[in-house]
Amino acid sequence: MPGTRYTLEVQPVLPERLKRLKELANDLLYSWDREVRALFFRLDRELWESCGHNPKVFLRRVAQKRINEAAEDRVFMEDYNRVLSVYDTYHQETARADILQHLDPKEDLVAYFCAEFGLHESFQIYSGGLGILAGDHCKAASDLNLPFVAVGMLYRQGYFTQTIDARGSQVAHYHPMHFADLPVDPALDANGKEIHVDVDMSGKRVILKVWKAKAGHITLYLLDSDLPENDEADRRITYQLYGGDINTRIQQEIVLGIGGVRALGAVGLKPTVWHINEGHAAFQILERCREAVAQGLDFDSALELVAANTIFTTHTPVPAGHDIFDYALMERYFGSQLKALGLDKEKLFSLGSSPDSQGGFNMTALALRGSRFRNGVSRIHGGVASRMDAYIWPQIPPEENPVGCITNGVHVPTFLAREWANLFDMRFGGGWRNELLNEEFWKHIDDIPDHSYWSLHQSLKAEMLAEVKRRVIHQHRRNGTSEALIERYVQYLTPHDADVLTVGFARRFATYKRATLLFSDPVRLARLLNDPKRRMLLIFAGKAHPHDLPAQRLIEVIHEYSRRPEFEGKLILLEGYDLSLARKLVTSVDVWLNTPEYPLEASGTSGEKAGINGVINLSVLDGWWGEGYNGENGWAITPHGAQYDSAYRDREEAQELLDIMEKQVIPLYYHRNGHGYSEQWVKKSKNSMKSLIPRFNSQRMVMDYVRNYYAPAKRQRLMMLGNNFARAKEIAAWRKRLDQSWPKVSAWRVDDGLAEIRSGEALALRVKARLNGLHPDDVLVECLVGYESDNNEFIRLDSHIFAAEGTDESGETRFKLDLYPRLPGLQYYKIRLFPFHPALSHRFESGYMIWL
Ligand SMILES: *Cc1c(COP(=O)(O)O)cnc(C)c1O
Repeated sequence: MPGTRYTLEVQPVLPERLKRLKELANDLLYSWDREVRALFFRLDRELWESCGHNPKVFLRRVAQKRINEAAEDRVFMEDYNRVLSVYDTYHQETARADILQHLDPKEDLVAYFCAEFGLHESFQIYSGGLGILAGDHCKAASDLNLPFVAVGMLYRQGYFTQTIDARGSQVAHYHPMHFADLPVDPALDANGKEIHVDVDMSGKRVILKVWKAKAGHITLYLLDSDLPENDEADRRITYQLYGGDINTRIQQEIVLGIGGVRALGAVGLKPTVWHINEGHAAFQILERCREAVAQGLDFDSALELVAANTIFTTHTPVPAGHDIFDYALMERYFGSQLKALGLDKEKLFSLGSSPDSQGGFNMTALALRGSRFRNGVSRIHGGVASRMDAYIWPQIPPEENPVGCITNGVHVPTFLAREWANLFDMRFGGGWRNELLNEEFWKHIDDIPDHSYWSLHQSLKAEMLAEVKRRVIHQHRRNGTSEALIERYVQYLTPHDADVLTVGFARRFATYKRATLLFSDPVRLARLLNDPKRRMLLIFAGKAHPHDLPAQRLIEVIHEYSRRPEFEGKLILLEGYDLSLARKLVTSVDVWLNTPEYPLEASGTSGEKAGINGVINLSVLDGWWGEGYNGENGWAITPHGAQYDSAYRDREEAQELLDIMEKQVIPLYYHRNGHGYSEQWVKKSKNSMKSLIPRFNSQRMVMDYVRNYYAPAKRQRLMMLGNNFARAKEIAAWRKRLDQSWPKVSAWRVDDGLAEIRSGEALALRVKARLNGLHPDDVLVECLVGYESDNNEFIRLDSHIFAAEGTDESGETRFKLDLYPRLPGLQYYKIRLFPFHPALSHRFESGYMIWL
């Protein structure tokens, strides 16, 4: 039909008694409070689905009639009032004792910077794991009532939504968002005026609008360059998450890092702790240094001051994954700011230098040099990161350098199925929500009768199968698949009979995650899938980055398998992976599969989400599973490190995966008792829930950050500030002195070097050192005592510090230790000398060490 199609939305008028629905729709607390969401979707399930679970849009489109009916519906109004009272109580809570121990809400504020935040599917400013993690961090910070503020970007188009066409190709769709549809409002100043800040983009001023989003107790500030004051190119800077080219990338990172610091200042906030979540936000270090230089500090002292209360969390286990900007680009954007920073070009570039960034500025290197607290996101990844980043502390053994680890956790109220939450409420009372850090408490999972446990999961699975079926039908109808074929694709998606072993694999498609590992022996896999007495379904979903063609190819390969007769209907490939589909799958399949190439899965979190729901993990021992697996709570595939040929590794791991499926997973699931369920399966599933809930939830993670990093960072800051930044200046000067003296420092032993002593006797250790201008107080001499492990490694048991005994005229300083060994028999010791300053955040921060 010809003619323009005009849109019209007939908006309902909210009755007075339902007015506060508006308030609920504008607080992202709805993203983790299912009771709040239920108020909306109960009004109109279909509309809720069609508007992408977006409460704000929902409230604009819901029929007046429905709203009026609800206002007169006693049951609805009771629930509404109950939800509001819970909501109000949540907002009235004040800081908890375990936070007050470490931070003072009146003084302290943690500012958390990240390029993406994944709080809810209705708010598409995330792409995958990093964003969801940041969202979970915010949610836990709110639940713990931490003094906390988050900073990110408000993308006009966000990340793409995905469809998969009839050939199995991923199609990326970008939808411009109307900010009026999102739970955001312009940040306003005291006079009610919108807050704008600006940043310099190679000589041009780019204006940024500051938006705020409320998520329970905390606020996210989001930056947006799409303003009429900016020219067309600059308006596009914040269009797409991870979109555009390297030039867009540096501009976005300037917006986030520099604009972000200015936005907090303009809003009137004064963070005392700064957390950089992944290197994208590291330019905040330069901006904070610039501010300190403007207060009269030289750059080195400014960097000491800034780094002292900065935490950097790294997520990328391969050098190629880090942002590197070539020097020409850096000069274009930072050349004019050198003076304000008190830096020359070489010194600026040196802040971003790393062994693998020749000619380029590495954002991870900047983040490492501009922070004093750094961590990887699992034990394995912490080790990988400390080796990869060891160049910052060249003389320190990587296992002792300042890169620590805090393992990621997931937000339980978001990812635990409502049905489990209800069951916990019933059995344990609402107080279970305050027991997330209590491992003892979760042993009560065993008190749930096996048969109710099994049937609760079966009903979750039935709902999921119905949803998957709807999605498959929708996807294939759109692609023009015949109804007869669609019928075959959904024939095993049987919500009325959920007794089918269901394996899920859903996450970002990236080649290192090896989504097709399961298909390395398709004949064997087909045999497992086609046993009529032991039914099994495989469900795949995930997005590939639009530039990652090999990952998109993996989607096609899975699509091709799914059309083969032997896999038809048993291998399901779903499009449109997002938080909503993730929640559905991680709560409801039976087995969660993960097959990363060790050690590339920094942490991974989808398996944690599955595990807390009693979905059993079958995964390579990498990332979080390396410490989550305890032998009883899932299955482990033995990882092969980079020393193995990749074809060999894939073959071995694929074989083990199929072996585990065939010999353990399937038999266990179908080993039924007289009541029709598998007792051993329930046992394993319960083991998963009770071992993982208290250890891999985001409250535990945030508390680890509070104790290990936020609290010490806050103290370091106070120390640096005192007496007109005396400590910052002192440490900067001390480092300078160290850099000059250290190359000529030497030390040697002057004792007898005895290899045998008698029990009860001391070993007299004597060391002399030429400190080349350093004071004896500037160094420590340390003896490490230990034994040798089976593979000839030195395992340290004790350490002892030598006493300085004075310096003679020739400039040699004597150090003395009379060592009384704790161990009998054969043992080993080592002696080393390293710089010491009481104000360092980590004893090896200097990066220098000499072994004797
Ligand atoms: C949890 C989650 C991820 C991360 O999954 P991994 O298995 O850790 O890669 C990615 N996307 C969504 C939507 C998620 O919910």
